Amino acid sequence: MSDHVNVVVYGSSGRMGQAVVRAILESDKTRLACALVRPGSGLADEPLDRVFGTLPRVVDFSTALDPDVPCDVLVDFSGPHAFDAALALAVERRAAFVSGTTGLREEQQTALERAAQTIPVLWAANFSLGVAMLLRAARRIGAALPDWDCEIVEMHHARKQDAPSGTALALGQAVAESRGMTLPECAVFARIDKTGPRHPGEIGFAALRGGDVAGEHTVLFSTAGERLEITHRAASRDIFARGALAAAIWIAGRPAGKYSIDEVLSPGTV
Ligand code: NAD
Repeated sequence: MSDHVNVVVYGSSGRMGQAVVRAILESDKTRLACALVRPGSGLADEPLDRVFGTLPRVVDFSTALDPDVPCDVLVDFSGPHAFDAALALAVERRAAFVSGTTGLREEQQTALERAAQTIPVLWAANFSLGVAMLLRAARRIGAALPDWDCEIVEMHHARKQDAPSGTALALGQAVAESRGMTLPECAVFARIDKTGPRHPGEIGFAALRGGDVAGEHTVLFSTAGERLEITHRAASRDIFARGALAAAIWIAGRPAGKYSIDEVLSPGTV
């Protein structure tokens, strides 16, 4: 492998894709090998300046990865509809695969497991260090206070496609597992027309949408007379992009397998 990690960005003109491209161009450890956009995109073969303003001319936007272009890691922030093709491309090129795409179906998660037999893969619902800490805290509090009611509230920008967010689901799963349950056993996603008291052990979710909120998550634990709330607020997408890039640098050259963001993120790495 060369001095630089060659990164291909899938979904490079999207909100997250742009933040990842900027992070790559600012890093002295990575090289932008290719900026992929969806087939038919008006940006195909256009210079990156069309989106990013004046830049040193590195690559143009492209709809396909040229076989001659080196690809150590493919970073995907496209969406569930494009995810299968992104994963297939990483497998075909024997590149490491880092994905933050949320709203994946069960069979897409299974495809990730399968791919991990031949390439290194790392999927995370959230690439921020603060959320990695929030997950750890939620797990500990969930286990320490098993009888307290747990609810999860999230807010995202108005154009977010999936609900609840992948991060909210990961937080719910952490609390459920800390109590010896699975998320499907205890998740409640809507209470419309549901009357009667709350069931002990259930984990309720609420999703708010509006404006340009990059991502906010609160885990609430309540019991009679007191309530504990832990909140993470993302002020910009750059934190996710920096975490994804740290993951790309960390995973490059590793053996095939499924890795977790917890292995990458610790205070000081991003
Ligand atoms: P977005 O809609 O702004 O960007 C997605 C981009 O992918 C678009 O530009 C679209 O044209 C492109 N795309 C679609 N099909 C493609 C294809 N076949 N080839 C190449 N590009 C293709 O969405 P976003 O806000 O950037 O979010 C993208 C995903 O990342 C969502 O699933 C979101 O939930 C997730 N996300 C994850 C994290 C995290 O930390 N894990 C953080 C923020 C967002």
